[in-house]
Amino acid sequence: METIRVDFNRPVPLGNEYEYIRQAIESGRISGDGGFTKKCHTFLESELGVNKALLTTSCTHALEMSAILLDIKPGDEVIIPDFTFVSTVNAFVLRGAKPIFLDVRADTLNLDESKLEAAITPRTKAIVPVHYAGVGCEMDSIMDIANRHHVAVVEDNAHGLFGKYKGKYLGTFGSLATQSFHETKNFSCGEGGALLINDPFLVERAEIIREKGTNRSRFFRGQVDKYTWVDIGSSYLPSDLLAAFLYAQFEQRERIQSHRKNVWDMYHAGLKDWAEKHGVQLPCIPEDREQAYHMFYMLLPTLDLRQRLIMHLRERGIYSVFHYLPLHLSDMGQGFGYKAGDCPVTERISDQLIRLPFYNDLTGSDQELVMDAIMEFKFQ
Ligand SMILES: *Cc1c(COP(=O)(O)O)cnc(C)c1O
Repeated sequence: METIRVDFNRPVPLGNEYEYIRQAIESGRISGDGGFTKKCHTFLESELGVNKALLTTSCTHALEMSAILLDIKPGDEVIIPDFTFVSTVNAFVLRGAKPIFLDVRADTLNLDESKLEAAITPRTKAIVPVHYAGVGCEMDSIMDIANRHHVAVVEDNAHGLFGKYKGKYLGTFGSLATQSFHETKNFSCGEGGALLINDPFLVERAEIIREKGTNRSRFFRGQVDKYTWVDIGSSYLPSDLLAAFLYAQFEQRERIQSHRKNVWDMYHAGLKDWAEKHGVQLPCIPEDREQAYHMFYMLLPTLDLRQRLIMHLRERGIYSVFHYLPLHLSDMGQGFGYKAGDCPVTERISDQLIRLPFYNDLTGSDQELVMDAIMEFKFQ
């Protein structure tokens, strides 16, 4: 195996991570909903202006909670972009929903809102837009269609924390939104997530579902004198040790986001001419959007070139990766009756996409190594 010169991702403690974990242990409570979890909730609520934020064990679990909260049942349909992570769809299929895969736009790789209305039927229960690479979806159109048809919107905002659409934070449009703090995301605690609840009517039940179907949260607030089993649910609370690590990352919000902006800008400036010359598509950030600087991707002209570029970089110790495979062509997708040709844009871009190394202390000199290696790549 070649030695790694520039890895694709790595976890980076940036401030008080170790100190806060020590404090959590010394506080004598490291289960869920301790002091650091509350700090994380308050941080998300006040920074984003959401009604309620609840940490979860993952974004996957926040999506599963969303499906339970929306009472998704067998036979319901849920509209999901074809180009996303498995959990976006699996969380709803677990409740018996049938996934309706929508193709994505060729420019932002986000759900193609021009195809949305035609996909709605009387069985549609939810639309789950994913803000790919932290660049917002066309939220005006999506919310307008959803509201006219009385369909809930759950934003999968795993990539998009602190991104904005027309000046408003991503994750504040749908009734619900989900965040990920997996090690590959901008802010991380290894494995973790959050459910953002914009619809106040869903807050109390969300607390119950997250606490194994009990009214334990109300009990701890003194609102009931004993706690008991009142609904379905599961154990979706992360340990306060993870919240301690995460809160230390949150405290570095400005530093993390401004560093990531620099990384993104440097790739973009350095690769623009090369990309134009070789027919490589760089990310599209519409004027009215502020991206979250989650990743830097490129679309090579063909699958063969994409695979060769990944190998070319790997031979030089640089780790780049491709991303999602079209969900409709997976074993599960085909089981729902989908076939090749159903989502042509996703089928194409999934073959062409490459993601470059991107993490919270990636240096300018490492980025130079990546870009120099890219310049040496032979297209012929
Ligand atoms: C990372 C990711 C998830 C899953 O996040 P976990 O916290 O690992 O469960 C879901 N959706 C998208 C779009 C993601 O990128």
